[in-house]
Amino acid sequence: MNLIIIGPPGSGKGTQGGLVAKRYHIPQISTGDILREAVRNGSALGLKAKASMVRGGLVPDEVVIGIIEDRLIQRDCGKGFLLDGFPRTVAQAEALERMLGKRGLVLDHVINIEIEMEELIRRLRGRRTCSRCGAMYHLLSNPPKKEGICDQCGGSLYERDDDKEETIRSRLDVYSQQTEPVIQYYATQGLVRSINGIGHIDDIFHRILEAIEEGEDYAKRGSHRS
Ligand code: ADP
Ligand code: ZN
Repeated sequence: MNLIIIGPPGSGKGTQGGLVAKRYHIPQISTGDILREAVRNGSALGLKAKASMVRGGLVPDEVVIGIIEDRLIQRDCGKGFLLDGFPRTVAQAEALERMLGKRGLVLDHVINIEIEMEELIRRLRGRRTCSRCGAMYHLLSNPPKKEGICDQCGGSLYERDDDKEETIRSRLDVYSQQTEPVIQYYATQGLVRSINGIGHIDDIFHRILEAIEEGEDYAKRGSHRS
């Protein structure tokens, strides 16, 4: 199964992407995670990415396209993949189409998580991430048992630099200007499964699974007809 998960910052796409990837035994490829790790390591890639990331802007297309090109040829992508945070611009979507096309692959579904602006801002403000295992918490809706400490691994929790107030605004603007057109791009191909992103993590996960299954039925009916 070849999947994309799209949603604004704070929509829970990272969390849901993890659950979906696990369910279908495919790797979750998060450009945000790859870039943050590169920044932490101070690699050449990290240096290129950092300036845009702290401002809440996008890293240049050619940089992330390169990351995805290298990643999709790894062995673990043989049975499919879930892209989380890519493509974020129409140029990236077109590059992905060329990459997949060369290898005779197609996308199965684009999961689009929908949520209002006010809710996003509320969520992003309280978000905390484990510095060791990447687990995510929220001070209001999903606090750790012990303040500042990860329940899963005991690592320390931090607030992402780009979760600070002004940066949140620019990330949301970038999303509506650059990434919403990507949803349009896939809608014309009939690939978009839109999901209401409000509710419990489990409920949203089940909505996604249902939407994927409905999409699968739809695709099958389509192929019988031809
Ligand atoms: P979120 O969607 O919650 O803002 P991500 O972890 O997906 O967070 O991405 C964090 C940051 O990494 C983005 O704001 C952007 O600067 C950079 N980034 C991630 N994926 C891409 C991409 N496909 N193209 C350009 N920049 C990206
Ligand atoms: Zn942890």
